[in-house]
Amino acid sequence: MGLHIGVDIGGTNLRVGVIDGLAVIHETRVHADFSLICKSNPPRLAWQEILRITCEALMPALQAYPAAVSIGIGFPGFIDPESGMIAQSPNLPGLRNVDLAGDLSPLIGRRVVIENDALAAAYGEYRLHPDSGRHLIYLGLGTGVGGGLILNGKPHAGQHGVAMEVGHLVVEPDGRLCGCGNRGCMEQYASASGVSITYHERAGRQCDADVIAGLAASGDEDAIFAYALAANTLAQALAHILKVVDVREVVIGGGMCKAWPLMEGAFNQRLQKDLIPVLRGRVRVAVSGTADHAGIIGAALLAAGH
Ligand SMILES: [Zn+2]
Repeated sequence: MGLHIGVDIGGTNLRVGVIDGLAVIHETRVHADFSLICKSNPPRLAWQEILRITCEALMPALQAYPAAVSIGIGFPGFIDPESGMIAQSPNLPGLRNVDLAGDLSPLIGRRVVIENDALAAAYGEYRLHPDSGRHLIYLGLGTGVGGGLILNGKPHAGQHGVAMEVGHLVVEPDGRLCGCGNRGCMEQYASASGVSITYHERAGRQCDADVIAGLAASGDEDAIFAYALAANTLAQALAHILKVVDVREVVIGGGMCKAWPLMEGAFNQRLQKDLIPVLRGRVRVAVSGTADHAGIIGAALLAAGH
């Protein structure tokens, strides 16, 4: 299969991995707050900065493994399946119709393929767990909430690249304003940013989701509430998704996975209640056990055409 490079771009960090088969043999992680870069710069400048950081982050892997010929990038945005352009990225405001693969490829002299980050992670999870059957849903809890669907062993991006943009299912009509332009989207409640907003609304303090997880573990009621609300909205959305796309395997990944023990009880209760009765007890929801490598592996495999 040879060596391939996979990149997972998140709201606040960028990870580059070199994979051999299905194993990550080299990994670099760069802290890069692309969200902040987009919020504090005009779009053209923000884009130049994103390109520069991505290029720099790739250099160590390219120098150490010059034989790696293709680079797959999982990017948090709506990717047009025909053109490969990033149409919009709700958590990277201002970015519209940018061509990451086209702009990056000449800078690094390699073929670059871009895919939605959650879809790449879904494919990685699917390939790492060959016993998962034909279909799999991946839900990534990070700065936003991403979703990816594998149908009959193949990633399903949809006609316009927004299939499984589950973070933007409306769970609270006229609720919190979302980066996509609508109100009440699930990711405004179930993501790390959503947990921070809920906690801020109740406790009047701005904390990040990790800190709130610690507070919840030590009994802080507002923190417990923030995670329970995240769990409830996620389960509510998943119950609806499963009525449309009937799969058995669901994998929960992303940085917020660490806090799953805080969410699991409320999540399972809500999910069983809201699932269509014939599906109750027949859907397997597991937390990703791939140490956050699924996105890198999936992106690399998709770019390599494997
Ligand atoms: Zn939205």
